[in-house]
Amino acid sequence: AADISQNPFKQDFPLLAGHPELAFLDSAATAQRPACVLDAERRFYETMNANPLRGLYSLSVAATAEIGRVREQVARLIGAVDEDGRALAQDVVFTRNTSESLNLVAKSFSPLVLKAGDEVCVTIMEHHSDLIPWQQACRAAGATLVFLYPNEDGVITDEEIAAKIGPKTRICAAAEVSNVLGIRLPVEKIAAAVHAQGGYMVVDGAQSVPHMAVDVRALGADFLAFSAHKALGPMGIGVLWGRHDLLDAMPPMLTGGEMIDSVTEQDATWAPVPEKFEAGTQDAAGIYATGEALTYLTQTVGYEAVAAREAALVAYAWERMGQLDFVELIGHPEASQHHGVISFNVRGVHPHDVASILDMSGVCIRAGHHCAQPLLTWLGVENLACCRASLAFYNDQSDVDRLVDALTQVWMVFHGRD
Ligand code: PMP
Repeated sequence: AADISQNPFKQDFPLLAGHPELAFLDSAATAQRPACVLDAERRFYETMNANPLRGLYSLSVAATAEIGRVREQVARLIGAVDEDGRALAQDVVFTRNTSESLNLVAKSFSPLVLKAGDEVCVTIMEHHSDLIPWQQACRAAGATLVFLYPNEDGVITDEEIAAKIGPKTRICAAAEVSNVLGIRLPVEKIAAAVHAQGGYMVVDGAQSVPHMAVDVRALGADFLAFSAHKALGPMGIGVLWGRHDLLDAMPPMLTGGEMIDSVTEQDATWAPVPEKFEAGTQDAAGIYATGEALTYLTQTVGYEAVAAREAALVAYAWERMGQLDFVELIGHPEASQHHGVISFNVRGVHPHDVASILDMSGVCIRAGHHCAQPLLTWLGVENLACCRASLAFYNDQSDVDRLVDALTQVWMVFHGRD
């Protein structure tokens, strides 16, 4: 097991190194950035700033080349390679975030395959970003939204998949890791089931790509979305990877500069994928810094160390929080199933009050519905709200200890020493 009493990484994160009073336990909302990512953003503006694609001078060409290089890096990261191992960089579309990536699929792809009477299947654990776009797509097409539910052990069973995915199912969409429960969903099984019906699989990788190696071929994904900001990169950069033939057939969601082939007074034709989907000036510095973030994540730290540290931290937190009889842990009973995420409530105390009191001790957690209201409704969580502590490899045992101490203070504030 990883040694979580040591922390070789905190010093790489200026905010954490500069604020030892903080226990940052909200990485599922957004990660902290290592210095190399901040430096990269600055380096871009200092040494290669020019509008990518908009010039034939070398500065602009360099900026364009950097975006191409990061596209290739992302393709390799998610296993988007051809038979000969060449990265399918052109199938990586840069967006603003996971939400925009999923909206792009729901808005541009769904109308090509959804008709009245069809079904789209999602899980009850979806973040609103992977739910509302499908509600809208179903409404537009006259299709029905169907839900997969976990059993009492928190597992979406083969039986559930077989019962819900059938000949009417055209699209399935699922998070690989739930942002509330932290469990990994059986996306490959869902993908196999929908493919057997001739349908398509959309994977929300917002909570998986930051924590584990993701391979779109092994998953059987037709589309994968994630956000750089949860994977140590800047805010404002999202990724949509899609199967080339599907991206090729899709109309753009946004139109304008940089996404055309030719334009006449009355009409326009589109540039090839991915430019077709990237209207207007891209956040080139952000994309460049995203490359740096992914290099730090996968080379400097490495997914193995990420997983080992997060597993040890969650196990430790689960055990210590389990000893607090006023804390109600939510979700799967085994800590090993919670990939960096622990949701809980303090008995009789509103989660917003818990978060505010923890904040006084410098402990940062999230409280609320976590953009997953249908899940909290289904779980029967009081007030449709809970607390969430989310751990990353740059946390250590002391962060968990401070959470536990602060939770004890919450209980004392509300219930006194007895
Ligand atoms: N899906 C999941 C599973 C998430 O956890 C989040 C972020 N909380 C999103 C989608 C949305 O990501 P973004 O806000 O970057 O669009």
